[in-house]
Amino acid sequence: MTTVPATSPAPSSSFAPLSLLARGACPALSAPMQTGDGLLTRVALAAPIGPGNLSSLCDLSRRHGNGILDVTARGNLQIRGLDHQSAVDLERAVRDLPLPLREGLAVEWSPLAGEDGSEIADPRPLGEAIIARARLLSGQLAPKLSVVVEGGGAIRLDHLLADIRLTADRQHGTLFWGLTLGGTAGSGRRLGLVADNEAADLVEELLQHLARLGPKARGRDIDPAHLAQLDRLRPVPATAFKVPAPTAPFGVFAVSEGLSALHIALPFGQMEAARLAALSEVSAKAGILWLKPAPDHALVLTGPQQACADVLAHAEKLGFISCGGDPLAEISACPGQPSCRSGRYATHETGRFAASKASVLLDGSIRLHLSGCAKGCAHPGVATLTFVGSDAGTHLVFEGKTSDTPLKTLVPHTETAALAVLDRLVRLKRQPTETSRDCLARLGPRAIAAALSEGR
Ligand code: SF4
Repeated sequence: MTTVPATSPAPSSSFAPLSLLARGACPALSAPMQTGDGLLTRVALAAPIGPGNLSSLCDLSRRHGNGILDVTARGNLQIRGLDHQSAVDLERAVRDLPLPLREGLAVEWSPLAGEDGSEIADPRPLGEAIIARARLLSGQLAPKLSVVVEGGGAIRLDHLLADIRLTADRQHGTLFWGLTLGGTAGSGRRLGLVADNEAADLVEELLQHLARLGPKARGRDIDPAHLAQLDRLRPVPATAFKVPAPTAPFGVFAVSEGLSALHIALPFGQMEAARLAALSEVSAKAGILWLKPAPDHALVLTGPQQACADVLAHAEKLGFISCGGDPLAEISACPGQPSCRSGRYATHETGRFAASKASVLLDGSIRLHLSGCAKGCAHPGVATLTFVGSDAGTHLVFEGKTSDTPLKTLVPHTETAALAVLDRLVRLKRQPTETSRDCLARLGPRAIAAALSEGR
């Protein structure tokens, strides 16, 4: 990477008393969230960091927390297992590091922004302008409000929910941004194209409008009919707003002349600090320049091709997901038992069983969500199969969230047996042209529940 935005100024926090997270907000350095394994704090980065800085964060995780770090589905780093005092100490120690911390409005772009030869436009100038303008509205916007600036390239953010999304599009060599409100790139409301030099003004006006609507207003609440500024949008040509299939390849790939990237992921979005620190050490020795947490619980490292290849070999040994088709990448699992006291079954153990013994079921079409309780920390959205721990047993939800009606409630601690039954069911019933998800959808909830009851 050639440029790293300046480290954001430390807010005027006195580091005490600790501000605990308000309901409906996201954890932050100065506002940790209570979880079943203590307080959890988020270290949101605006730019890539060097391997040495990741090492330092791992040290701090062991010193102040329980030595477990997360990379979230949106690509944020989290440190777990803190108490009230250690969270204050951690915040102070993190702010002492030379990190490009992102404060305020969550404005997100590709971890390869500005370096990816296949991107349509570098999203950072627009993203940084939006962050600067949003500072004037601090405290007036919904805590979970997010803006995605999609410049294109190998790692896209199309699948992430965003209140305001700007998608780069070139029309006859001129850069425009497609504006979408709410949802993902596929499901949001597509409004039109804005010229590059007008995009920051337009987003500022949208943010001001949201502030006027109140601190709970989200992108979906904006009514374009009541916002004259949206008149300046150009109509959307057929070529704009195309949502390409996700490409983000695991492993090593070239991003530009002389620069490669290594894309790996943390199983279940979580890793012991010791393993992450080992990866940092190997990366520094190999000549990796930068690394950054990335969407879908991943890490992206950049450097010379050989450095990326060297680290890849170690990453596999350290337990990272490093190749496409690894069933672990299809599983979202919260810490569950024994890490979280709300957990009612061993989510990670169940996930490892599924990855090794349910390979027919996990054919790439399934999202398996293993949730220790109904809170659904690991995957707030819909999954193909969701196992939800409860005192009454483990609920199995088909094509839903943890809060949806289960098709069956399993006897506690029979989750792996149920996965074996589902794997066998798909093996027997799947037609040649079907994916596992197609097969389950065709069979339907009643047939699935019947198979589980009979144990066949
Ligand atoms: S979903 Fe998992 S991590 Fe979250 S509170 Fe429940 S058991 Fe704990």
